[in-house]
Amino acid sequence: MIIATRNSHKTEEIRAMVGDRCDVRDANDFPDFPTVDETGTTFVENATLKAEAISACVDGYVLSDDSGLEVDALHGAPGVWSSSYGGEEGNHALNNARLVEELKDVPIGKRQARFVCVMVIARHGKALAHFRGSVEGQVLASSAGHGGFGYDPLFAPDGFDSSFAELGADIKNQLSHRSRALLQAMEWLDRLPD
Ligand code: IMP
Repeated sequence: MIIATRNSHKTEEIRAMVGDRCDVRDANDFPDFPTVDETGTTFVENATLKAEAISACVDGYVLSDDSGLEVDALHGAPGVWSSSYGGEEGNHALNNARLVEELKDVPIGKRQARFVCVMVIARHGKALAHFRGSVEGQVLASSAGHGGFGYDPLFAPDGFDSSFAELGADIKNQLSHRSRALLQAMEWLDRLPD
C-alpha cells in the first residue's frame, strides 16, 4: 500500500502497525509524485487532497493521513495548521516552543487536548472512504522524552503521566489517533472483494 505522505515518521508508525499484512511505501519512494498543497481547512479536506492527487499517479489503493493537535484552551488550535504553528512548515522545535508559550498561564487540569487523524483511501484519483481516530490527553508544561515526533514530547494521553515521547512506539501505537484511524481503514480494505 502507498501512503500519500513524505513524513517518514507517519510512514514508520503505519508500517509498524500493519506489520507483515502488506508492504508500505510512501511518496519518498516516488520522487516524481507531485507535492500536494494542503489548502483545505479541515482534516478531511486535506487528507482528500493528498489521497486523490497521489492515487491519480499510481495503480491501486492509496492511503493518506492528515493529522494534528486540537487544544481546548486554544479553541482547537493548532488543529489543521499543526505542522506550521511555529511559523515554519515542519519545524517541530518551533511548533512545540509556541505551544508551550501559548499555554504558559493555563493551569494543570485545563490543558485538555486531542490528537486527531483522518485517513482517506483513494483509487484512480477519487476518494472512496475516510476514517477518523482521536486520542484525548493533556498538554504538558514542558517537553519530556525523545521518542516519536512533532508534539509527542508535550502530549500525555489520558491515564498516563508520561508523554508519548516517553512512553515509546509500542504504547503510542496502541493508543494513538493514527492507530485508531488505521484500524478502521484496514477493516475497510479487508472487506473489499478479491
Ligand atoms: P500534516 O502533515 O498536515 O498532517 O500535519 C501533521 C502535523 O501534526 C505534524 O507535523 C505534527 O506537528 C502534528 N502531528 C500529527 N500527528 C502527530 C503525532 O502522532 N505526534 C505528534 N505530532 C503529530
